Amino acid sequence: MAEQLPLPFAENPAPDERSTDRERVLQLHQLRCYLEKRLGRAVEITVTDNRRSMLSTTRRGERYYFRLHHMFLGADDPTVLTALVDFAHLNTERARLRIRQFIESRRHMLQPAREVGQLATRSDGEVYDLQPIFDQLDADYFDSSLGDVSIGWGRNGRARGKHRRSIRLGAYFPKKRLIRIHPLLDREIVPRFFVEAVVHHEMVHAFLHQTQRARPGRVHCSLFRELEQKFAHHEAARAWELEELPTCFDFE
Ligand SMILES: [Zn+2]
Repeated sequence: MAEQLPLPFAENPAPDERSTDRERVLQLHQLRCYLEKRLGRAVEITVTDNRRSMLSTTRRGERYYFRLHHMFLGADDPTVLTALVDFAHLNTERARLRIRQFIESRRHMLQPAREVGQLATRSDGEVYDLQPIFDQLDADYFDSSLGDVSIGWGRNGRARGKHRRSIRLGAYFPKKRLIRIHPLLDREIVPRFFVEAVVHHEMVHAFLHQTQRARPGRVHCSLFRELEQKFAHHEAARAWELEELPTCFDFE
């Protein structure tokens, strides 16, 4: 049984209230110890930035699994901690209510620090979460130099126009240091390597913008192509784009 408490996401980011990594590790440890003691069983916790499901628990065998938003790491109110225990164990209405109140009181923490003003987008889609894809590509191909770039799914815009070429699958906004990916790619039918290829392409833009500021010339210069081709699945992605992409979507 998995329980979920969804909540819409809020507008006001307060990045400075986020814990540092070291604090988080300590808080996570403390929370796990507390829950194990109270539940009398082993507990595994996954911390997320997910704004749709802030808390879910499931029990498999002798172990409880928690997926919870990082806002819970700083929770020291005993009524909230007790509610977490009761939610996992008994799923009482009282526990759900207390947790909802708590989430409501921390609404301002629901927005990742990386997001930027009005262009804020969310990285977790229905099928793909772009942030871990971005982070992995950043580590693999850009020496983790693009940490200040944000990424998110574009808004629900429907594909317009009859030709698939009119669809822009990704975009990089230099002033905002923001990458947006077209939500049409957030589907099971689209293979992960293709989403990665589109993200990687935009990351090359971000990388070149960073390293060669205001360099005039073609958008996709030879250096761009060279970097783009370093992506391990570049050829496969090109082939998929030509052969499969047109059949995936109805552009009429
Ligand atoms: Zn491009």
